[in-house]
This record gives sequence, structure tokens and C-alpha cells, in this order.
Amino acid sequence: MTELLKDRVALVTGASRGIGAATAKALAAAGAHVILTGRTVADLEAVEASIYEAGSSATIAPLDLTECDSVARLGAAVSGRWPSLDILVLNAAILGPMMPVPQIAGDELAKVFTLNVLAQQALIAAFDPLLRKSDAGRLVAISSGVGRNPKAYWGAYSASKAALESLVLSYADEVQNLAPLKVAIVNPGPTRTAMRADAYPGEDPATVKSPDVVGEAIVALLASDFETGHRLQLPR
Ligand code: NDP
Repeated sequence: MTELLKDRVALVTGASRGIGAATAKALAAAGAHVILTGRTVADLEAVEASIYEAGSSATIAPLDLTECDSVARLGAAVSGRWPSLDILVLNAAILGPMMPVPQIAGDELAKVFTLNVLAQQALIAAFDPLLRKSDAGRLVAISSGVGRNPKAYWGAYSASKAALESLVLSYADEVQNLAPLKVAIVNPGPTRTAMRADAYPGEDPATVKSPDVVGEAIVALLASDFETGHRLQLPR
């Protein structure tokens, strides 16, 4: 267990399954207390139970990040219980419509941006004061290769990840001389999750790496002394 993460307070969005659940478990195994958010209560409880069974601790905070005021309420609840937040992992996202740009319906594009961009800005706004109070605040945004390298039929998702990267890197620049807060962008690469299965329904899941590999890599990053603005790209 790395001492750097021991007793740190971490919040992971989209912690009910996939990369978020794996990251939450890896952070808890490294000694952090992890706040798990997502919409599906039973899945959050299952992740919480496995963290307790492994001898670590977690708190679940079920919410829909796209619901009005949900993020502000989460911020208020966390600040009522902890004096600071050490780690914020912006992981929850949706894939949205996979189709040619001219065919994307405006309301579908809006759904993607509401979660993948607007909710992420709301999370940064809600947790900025608590992150600044940490003596080693860390924000990790989970992006995607298509955020920087767009490709056919991925327009909605890739535009949202490009916007997410711009947002978090702007934030990193704003705070870098004001707080010991560091920001990193992680591109997990192909990972065996529900989102990956949606994007590549014909793929044999056994050919894609486990989310545990990504969780361990994020913990290793958080335990290291990276420069703010750092990008971590994981291989297939
Ligand atoms: P999953 O679809 O498996 O998990 C998404 C998570 O987000 C779930 O925990 C889900 O929980 C949560 N979530 C979705 N909508 C909402 C909402 N409205 N409010 C709150 N929580 C929500 O995806 P992955 O684990 O694959 O993806 C995790 C991250 O990794 C994403 O940012 C994705 O873009 C990125 N990524 C993934 C890759 C891959 O190959 N898997 C590759 C590159 C990037 P619930 O349904 O319970 O709300």
C-alpha cells in the first residue's frame, strides 16, 4: 500500500461498474476512503461491499449527474462531512449516438454534452473549494483517444471528450499557482466494459484488457509526482 494515498479522500464518478468501479477499488486498496457515485444503487452497494470485504472503506452517493442541482447537493454533502477532497476522478460518461455527423439529432447530442461536459464543469465548480483545501489535491479526467483524433461516426462522443480536455486543462492552468492541485488526463485505451461492448458489439471481450488494469494505472499515477496537465495513455 502506498503511503501517499493512505487516508486520502477520493471521489470517483461512474463507480458502479467498469473503469470507475475498478479505479474505486484500487484507490481503496491503496488506503483511500472512496466516495462512490453513479445512478444504480445496487451496483454501488456491490462495489462498496467488495471494498469493505477487502478491509478498506467507502461511502456511496447515488445520483444522476445530469439532474438539476444534483452535483451541487453532492458538493454540499461532501463538504459537510470532510474538510477537503484529495482526489476527484471524473470518469462517468456516455457514448451517445454512433452515426454520421449530419444525422445526429440535436437532443441526442445535448444528452452527451450534458453528462460528458456540463456535469463535469459542475463537478469542478462544486469541488474546487475542497480540492484547494487539500495539501495534495489531484483531479483526473478520463478521456478517450478520439478526443484528440476524431473519427467517422464518433462525432458526438469525440467532440464531448475534446471539450472535456479543454475544460480540465483550462482549470489546471487557472489553479496551478494558487493551490498544490494537479490535473491529469487519462486515456484508458480499449477496456472491457459495457461502453466498449456498445461501441464494438462484434468484438470478443477476451481480446480487450480488464478495467482492473486501468484502475491500477490510475492509482500508480496518483501515487506519483506528475506535472499538472500530464497525459497518461494506456496501451490496448
Ligand atoms: P461504462 O458505461 O461501463 O460505465 C459508465 C459509468 O458512468 C457507470 O458507472 C454509470 O453508472 C455512470 N453513469 C452513466 N450515466 C450517468 C449519469 N447520468 N449520472 C451518473 N453516473 C452515470 O463505461 P466505461 O467504464 O467504459 O467508461 C468509463 C470512462 O472511460 C468514460 O469516461 C469513457 O468515456 C472512458 N473510456 C472508456 C473506454 C473503454 O474502452 N471502455 C476507452 C476510452 C475511454 P450508472 O449507470 O449506475 O449511473
